[in-house]
Parts: sequence; structure tokens; C-alpha cells
Amino acid sequence: MEESFDDKTGYCRSLGHYVPFQYCRTVNSGLPCSKIKDCWFEKLDIERFIGENYSKSEIEQIFTPRPEKISTLIDLINKAKDNK
Ligand code: SF4
Repeated sequence: MEESFDDKTGYCRSLGHYVPFQYCRTVNSGLPCSKIKDCWFEKLDIERFIGENYSKSEIEQIFTPRPEKISTLIDLINKAKDNK
């Protein structure tokens, strides 16, 4: 695992304060936050970092929305339709 970027910091819109890259690459049960590409593309070659440090299945796990989030979204869409 490449750790050379760990001390870089970036503003986290979810938390409302600055966080080190080390946090972003481990926050999801040891895997990166799903927003890591959006948050870090201006500061480092994040596509290369992801490609060189994670397997294909880990990458899927990182960027595939969790089922409960999908069902929540579907629930919200259905509620919006019901309110028309
Ligand atoms: S990658 Fe995730 S934890 Fe890191 S700054 Fe972005 S939203 Fe926050």
C-alpha cells in the first residue's frame, strides 16, 4: 500500500473540516471513501493510486452503492410519486 500521500490534507464536505488522505483511503472499513476520486483528483493522480493499490473486487466494493442506499433512494422516489 502506497502511503506517501497520507499527510496531504483536503476539505471534507461530509464532515465539514480538513482530513488527511490517510483517513479518506481507510474510512470505509479499511477501504477508501466512495467519494475519493471527486475529492482528490486535483491533488494527486487518484485514478493511478486506486488502480495500483486495490484489486478489481475491492474497487467494485468501494464504488458500488450499498444496497440499503439504493433501496432508500427507491423509497424516496416512490414517496415523491405518491405525493403527486
Ligand atoms: S474522500 Fe470522503 S472522507 Fe475524504 S474528504 Fe472526500 S468525502 Fe470526506
